[in-house]
Amino acid sequence: MSPTFNFQLLTVDFFMKLVYSAQYDLNLGNHVFPSIKYRLIREKLLRDQVAGPQDFVEPPPASEDDIALVHSRDYIRKLQAGKLSYLEILRLEIPYSPELVRAVWLSAGGSILAGRLALQDGAAANVGGGFHHAYPDHGEGFCVLNDFAIGIRRLQKDKAIERAMTVDCDVHQGNGTAAIFAGDSTVFTLSIHQENNYPYPKPPSTLDINLRDGVEDAEYLEELEKGLDQALREFQPDLIYYVAGADPYRHDQLGGLKLSIDGLARRDRLVFEKARAKNIPVAITLAGGYARRVEDTIDIHTNTIRIAKEFIK
Ligand SMILES: [Zn+2]
Repeated sequence: MSPTFNFQLLTVDFFMKLVYSAQYDLNLGNHVFPSIKYRLIREKLLRDQVAGPQDFVEPPPASEDDIALVHSRDYIRKLQAGKLSYLEILRLEIPYSPELVRAVWLSAGGSILAGRLALQDGAAANVGGGFHHAYPDHGEGFCVLNDFAIGIRRLQKDKAIERAMTVDCDVHQGNGTAAIFAGDSTVFTLSIHQENNYPYPKPPSTLDINLRDGVEDAEYLEELEKGLDQALREFQPDLIYYVAGADPYRHDQLGGLKLSIDGLARRDRLVFEKARAKNIPVAITLAGGYARRVEDTIDIHTNTIRIAKEFIK
């Protein structure tokens, strides 16, 4: 018999910061969007020793000027003053509250910070954000501010990057992102999503991969690989924002694709492998996830962070 040995001591703890605030919770109560997920992901990462308390950093809220790099001043003022119309709130599909405003300001600050940390360390995650349905002048589909679009604009303004790519693997097309960066040759937007699902219409991304209903792991991974290869052949970004939606999962309530939890982990690995092969830093944002069992959504998101850590060297 070999002596008991603590293998934990042998694992090298690669450095990846996780941006998180307890105030990311969107205060939605009993809603299909489990806004408690951010806290549950943090707890699971700690429990599974994927991360220690020292790996988490608290974001400052984005400044109004940062947000105005993407959103109209008029829309920002309406959010701050609680002056959205009934129809504007209806389109958001989540209840308006001061806590919601606080949360999305912090999420935007979090994606700016995650972008900066990714440039420094090779990868970083915002344990939040990914609100890809937000347009310059309005929010929709649970998304108030397009946090990672704000991240790209701020990092460009700081001259920390010139060119960015968004790799959006949420089951829903990244309509807000596509609209924000339409005609901008410095940002390549890739979206792989279920075609027959919200949003309608879908303004064109630089590259849209439209999948039919019910696509499973193998076909999804093949299409994503083709798309990533094409995108990275045509465009060399200084940074990738990875929108790692958990909702292509087969048991998602708002998605119609059929990926397994293992397939989603392979998806994550594929994105990090392709980025690493070209030495491109990756900033993760979480986006959607509406599995019937919230534990599955938490597993899918924590896997993304676990896998990203393997690529930090
Ligand atoms: Zn989604």
